Amino acid sequence: MKFVERKVERTLREYDMIERSDKLLVALSGGKDSSALLHIIKGLAPDIKLICLHIDLGVEGFSEQWRHKAEELASQEGVELEVVKLKDLLGCTMSELALRHRKVCSPCGLARRYILNYYGNLRGATKIATGHNLDDVLAVLWDLYVAGDLLEAVKLQPATRLMHPKALPRIKPLIELTDFELKAYVDIKALPYSPARCPFGRESKLNKRKKIIDAIESMRPSFKHTFLKAHIKRVSPLLSPLLSSRATDWKSCTRCGMPSKGEVCGMCQLKEHLKKG
Ligand code: AMP
Ligand code: ZN
Repeated sequence: MKFVERKVERTLREYDMIERSDKLLVALSGGKDSSALLHIIKGLAPDIKLICLHIDLGVEGFSEQWRHKAEELASQEGVELEVVKLKDLLGCTMSELALRHRKVCSPCGLARRYILNYYGNLRGATKIATGHNLDDVLAVLWDLYVAGDLLEAVKLQPATRLMHPKALPRIKPLIELTDFELKAYVDIKALPYSPARCPFGRESKLNKRKKIIDAIESMRPSFKHTFLKAHIKRVSPLLSPLLSSRATDWKSCTRCGMPSKGEVCGMCQLKEHLKKG
């Protein structure tokens, strides 16, 4: 399993992801990827300051498991874990939201991104690390390339940062590892994780894309890495000047002060919308 660790070490170096002075917020979902992420980072950078955050989304019958696994792993790794309840910040759980809205995936994603950034700022983190892997990223890139939405695709990078003082840089140290490699890693290392899939179906759409990409990889080995490298090293440099000329002028939300495209950020709008019923 040294292969997996060496690959993460190379990714961290290649994209200058962490520095000694960083205080890294690791987003621990209780799933396999972020479990591997915490374990590998602890091994590669034992001296780096870490904070772990788990967002309890309140998905009935599932969140208890995810939370429990995140707690088990953090205690095994000797790292403190902060658990934040979505309900405390948004006013409702994901299960409650699902009763009122057919599609909960985009508000869930918005709330998770907001909470990670909000707590990162509150706890003095300098960066946020997530467990997005190669298959996750390619599944999203696939849709964006097929739709011709290259300007949106270019935003998907191993390390990103929005131009706002409260927008913490985000890193994806597992971006060059596949689902298969990470599953093997957590199983061999016997790391705690929950295999449960979200019942709201976001993963089922992504899994369809993953199957297409797996099929291509089986006929054309190293397709996945070629796709990722072409995206990062060839397409992105060509298009990023276009992106910067259209760069969003990030403002501060007039309610909470967090980064926002308009006067009021997406999270504050969502809260207001939910309050109105
Ligand atoms: P996903 O979008 O579910 O594939 O998750 C991608 C990454 O986001 C995970 O590997 C975690 O690092 C982070 N993440 C997702 N859900 C949570 C959560 N409930 N709490 C903390 N981090 C999360
Ligand atoms: Zn706001």
